[in-house]
Amino acid sequence: MFYAEIGVKHVQQYLGRSRHLWGRRGASDLLAMATTTKQDLSAAKKALWDNQGLKTVPEILAQYDGVEINPDALDIDGVVAICGSDKNQTEEAAHVIALNIRQFLPATTVSVDLFEAAAYADTLASSYDKCTTVYHPGLTEFPLARRCDECTSDMAGYVVEEPSTPAIRKGTRLCADCWQRMPRPNRTQVLGELQDLPGFEAEEMVLKELRARRSNAADGGGADLAACKDFHDLAQQVKTGNVHRTTNNNHIATVFADGNGLGQLFARARREAADAGQMDETKSLSVAIKNITRTALIEAVAEITQATDEVMPAIPHILGGDDIFVSLPATLVWDFLPKFLCKMKEGFEMENLAPMPSVSAGVVICHAAFPIGDQAEISEALMRQAKKHVAGDGWSFSWLDITAEETQSLRDRAPWLLSEFEGRREAIEGLKELPNSARSSLRTVLSQPGDRNLALQHFAERSPEVKTVVAKLFPSAGNALDEADFQVLEDSLSITRWLQ
Ligand SMILES: [Zn+2]
Repeated sequence: MFYAEIGVKHVQQYLGRSRHLWGRRGASDLLAMATTTKQDLSAAKKALWDNQGLKTVPEILAQYDGVEINPDALDIDGVVAICGSDKNQTEEAAHVIALNIRQFLPATTVSVDLFEAAAYADTLASSYDKCTTVYHPGLTEFPLARRCDECTSDMAGYVVEEPSTPAIRKGTRLCADCWQRMPRPNRTQVLGELQDLPGFEAEEMVLKELRARRSNAADGGGADLAACKDFHDLAQQVKTGNVHRTTNNNHIATVFADGNGLGQLFARARREAADAGQMDETKSLSVAIKNITRTALIEAVAEITQATDEVMPAIPHILGGDDIFVSLPATLVWDFLPKFLCKMKEGFEMENLAPMPSVSAGVVICHAAFPIGDQAEISEALMRQAKKHVAGDGWSFSWLDITAEETQSLRDRAPWLLSEFEGRREAIEGLKELPNSARSSLRTVLSQPGDRNLALQHFAERSPEVKTVVAKLFPSAGNALDEADFQVLEDSLSITRWLQ
């Protein structure tokens, strides 16, 4: 049998090419359309599709005798797995699928793996040979040409005459990829009809789930739930009654979280599949991990969504097997993140996985206008730092508040463990309850040169509530904090900025 796998590479980076949310959403929709293997395309969906002159995977496969979707392959978003008994037919179908994706989305990187085996499970042994072809995005070869106004990466080839959304100005020049991403009427809704939405459609999936919960609720469901219009709309989803800063409704937080230790689990499952010659256990492991991540994302968004909310206060960009990339109002991030991590932990424990995996996260807090591509890059770097902190085995997170800590480099703050956050939470809430003036004086005291212990003691004598909070944060430190303690105190102050 001949097998081929067509995969979209560097998805986060690719989604982050656009500055604005419409670009990210358009790219997600198109990735889903170009890689879905579902046959059940409704008439509306077909109409949208055919307008672009592009084909679905099942439509392409219909032209190749004996080539079909590989029933044994793992269901991985962005990867199309096919198989056939004829080498040439399988190979040609694979390259046509890859080129079709590239026609949809010219800036994607798409790889094609080809291999031959008696059974698919045999190909999972690490020594197995594959023939790989990679289609890279084209290079911009005319440096004098005008660049795309949205991504600035490619040459602009299109001028928007009739913007399909107020977010795009008339006369905007776009490259071929951004042009494809432009909102089209009903595109997302049409994709929402799919029973199992792929991870690129995480936003639609979570919305669907929360809406279903509302309509099943005993009281009839409350308000309807809509998606945010853009990042500014997201930033404004602050809860009334908790407004403590005049400028707290223009910041968002973007979280990139990824599992630790899953690689080893899957490597072992693959070896076992190759030995046993069957895929069942590897497939059920993959489905279980996906479900845990999906449930944790839904529960964490449900945690920050109130029954009266008309807009979902989260924009999930991508839901992978064991990773999420999601934006939230800055004021809700410290409720969302611990809930997400705790739910992941609960899920892993219920599956009894061994060795037990964990999750590390990077959080960037920034103005709503900060480009999504930069948020992706920084949150990923922070996530890697958090993983390194626990050597790839532990529950950790790292964060950077771009506006408040602009001079801070990524390395200045040691990542926190989830357990440290939980242990310090009460003290941090105590810090939060202090008057703004006390917190800002405390920041000043900590930033002065000289003996910080002495300065803190003087300050605490004048302000007994500060003394109480510091004692709660460092119960065994007495009057002498060390450098690491001072860093924890500064970090805690950073958290209080956006703690509700
Ligand atoms: Zn562009």
